[in-house]
Parts: sequence; C-alpha cells; structure tokens
Amino acid sequence: MKMDEGVELMNQGNFEKAEELFREVLLNVEVVPADLCFYFGKNSFHLDKFSQSIDWLNKYIELKGTSGRFFDAAVEYLKLAEEEQQFQSTASQIQNNKEPRKREFINCEQTPFVVCPVCSGQGVSIERGSLGTSIYKACQYCKETGRMSCENYKLFLVGKFDPVLKNDH
Ligand SMILES: [Zn+2]
Repeated sequence: MKMDEGVELMNQGNFEKAEELFREVLLNVEVVPADLCFYFGKNSFHLDKFSQSIDWLNKYIELKGTSGRFFDAAVEYLKLAEEEQQFQSTASQIQNNKEPRKREFINCEQTPFVVCPVCSGQGVSIERGSLGTSIYKACQYCKETGRMSCENYKLFLVGKFDPVLKNDH
C-alpha cells in the first residue's frame, strides 16, 4: 500500500518524498484514513510546514478522539507544531518591526551633510509668540548654516544631539 511506503520513507527521514506519496494516496481515496491524517501531520511537522501539520493532527484527533492509537503522539506533535508556529510568527513580527529602521540608515560617506531638520535649511527656527506673532530665532542646531553634519543628524534622530554641546562639528 502507498501509505505504508510513505510511512517507510518518513521513518527514513525522506519527508519530501513521503509527502508526495501521502498526497497521491489522498487523491485516490474516497474516505481519508484517520491514520493518514496523523502521518501527514507528523510528516508536515518535519518539513517545517507547521500550520499544515496542525490542521492534519487536529483532523486525526477529531476522527479518532482519545482512543486513536496515535493519540498521544498526535498531541505531542501538535504541541510542538503550535510552539514552532508561534515562534515563527513572533520572529517574523520582529523582522517586520526592523524594516522601517533599515530605511533610516544613513551613509555619511555619501551624504556628509543633510538639510537641517530643525529649521528645514532656513538657518532660523520660527516660534509662535504669545500674540500669534512669529518669532525668528537663530537655529542652534545648524549654527544658522541650514545644514547639519551627518554625524550630528544621526545623533539627532535618536534624540541625542545637544546643539549647545555638539555644535562644533
Ligand atoms: Zn538649522
């Protein structure tokens, strides 16, 4: 029987080939044997297809309940697959959170100076006075030059640029 061949391959660690055989079996049966659900789930786990693994293991438990001969193993694999899936999704979330920071990477060799982000290159900063008037102040961040050195800009982005102490760049 194809399914037994698949199990044999799975036990040998040939999980890709085993999945192929299991899929062939699935195509040729009217009623999916419960054991195949377990095998497919277990095999999927070894292929790092964790959500597929979870689906099939749940299906096995659904079909056989607690009396299935693979019940304990199915529960065990299910637990592992869920942990792995959780780990993967956490890892990909962390990866996604990193993306915007990558875009802020500045190459100071290519761009030694940037337009001063405080005064937008005007050399003066504009504050609103108490009567709604505009008060122009010399921009300390760029010493009124309208540009900021790349090194200072990097400090500025992380909130560590103190224009009073660091304006000699
Ligand atoms: Zn400025």
